[in-house]
Amino acid sequence: MLAAGVCPSGKGAYTGTTAGKTGKAVLTRRGAARLRAGHPWIFRSDLAEAEGGAGDIVRVTDRASRFLGWAFYNPKSEISLRIAEREDREIDEPWFRTRMEKALAYRESLQIDADAYRLLHAEADGLPGLVVDRYGNYCVLQVGSAAVERRLDWILAALEDSVAPAGVLLRGESAARKREGLETGVRSVRGEVPATVVVREGPVRYEARTWTGQKTGCFLDQRENHGAAARYLNGAARVLDVFSYAGGFALHSARVAEKAEVVDASGAALELARRNAELNGLPNVSFTRANAFDLLRERADAGERYDAVILDPPAFAKTRRDVPHATRAYKKINLRAMKMLAPGGILVTCSCSHHFSRELMEETLRSAAADAGRTMRVREWRGQATDHPEILTVPETRYLKCAILERVG
Ligand code: SAH
Repeated sequence: MLAAGVCPSGKGAYTGTTAGKTGKAVLTRRGAARLRAGHPWIFRSDLAEAEGGAGDIVRVTDRASRFLGWAFYNPKSEISLRIAEREDREIDEPWFRTRMEKALAYRESLQIDADAYRLLHAEADGLPGLVVDRYGNYCVLQVGSAAVERRLDWILAALEDSVAPAGVLLRGESAARKREGLETGVRSVRGEVPATVVVREGPVRYEARTWTGQKTGCFLDQRENHGAAARYLNGAARVLDVFSYAGGFALHSARVAEKAEVVDASGAALELARRNAELNGLPNVSFTRANAFDLLRERADAGERYDAVILDPPAFAKTRRDVPHATRAYKKINLRAMKMLAPGGILVTCSCSHHFSRELMEETLRSAAADAGRTMRVREWRGQATDHPEILTVPETRYLKCAILERVG
């Protein structure tokens, strides 16, 4: 069911209660300093005064009434304000349209060799609380803010004008929605979106499960890394893709290597990887369901050798508190992978935890290499795909790290 005030046909008049300058918010000195430093989030504790309700757009000032910006407001959320506009202008339907057009123009400038990519990346595209992923003719949205949810009709209209999708799906299972007090679930908000959409990523085709797959269907943020890793694997005899999900790395690798094995703990992920290998006519991919920690230990102990190991674990550190545990887990898997690399072998190792910083990742890899007795040459340090841009002053927009290392000793 659609939320109250949402017009599913997109072009219709907005029927919600708040479409413009209604509320206001005054920030503490610390809150104002944070905004001036370029960060768009204001925590509840940095709000001196606020007028308005969940989903309102409020005018934000400091205590001296100096204008700071327009923000999406939700008193229920720990992040009570998300600055959307730093100029003193109304956030209306044309505002959303312009944001969408700019996001699309940026993607067009990237000349993405794929038909599945992120069209709009929330704060990094100036639209907090909204993610739009494109899967061919379909779009999948993640809405993590009450203000965006209330203006969904404007967003659908803007999408219609910019990419005219055949269908739009709203994936609403996220923790962010729960925090914002929004209803959770998956629903079609425009047209019909099939359960499976076949998309292309460079030379590889794969099935994205838009309704049920991880994230909005797959890991679009690894798109460029899939291809980059494969560039090192020409003629590799054995490639091990651990934490494979639908086989993103293995499919690209299996085109140039002799054999690739995918490993994941999820049966549904392996089923998807199997279908994708078939879809690409790759009989040299094998599938193993296992706990990666156990499998890496067993194989390392058995003295197995690989020309390449890929490690792309889920976020071990979801919060700052998890960092020590995550560091140990991260070291463990990398140590074992390094041990199994044949001379000249390649380790592609990723972390998608924002809290596990690039510096900490480097330190952990260094310590794994020392304990494994391996000399690892750094071939590349990479990040998330360029359609998931980072904003320099918003460190949270930088999360994915991908190191490509070569065993040289
Ligand atoms: N490499 C993939 C994305 C991986 S996401 C890509 O490029 O598209 C992380 C995957 O790790 C998920 O599919 C999840 O099922 C799997 N996973 C999580 N914990 C695991 C474990 N302990 N052992 C094996 N797989 C695990």
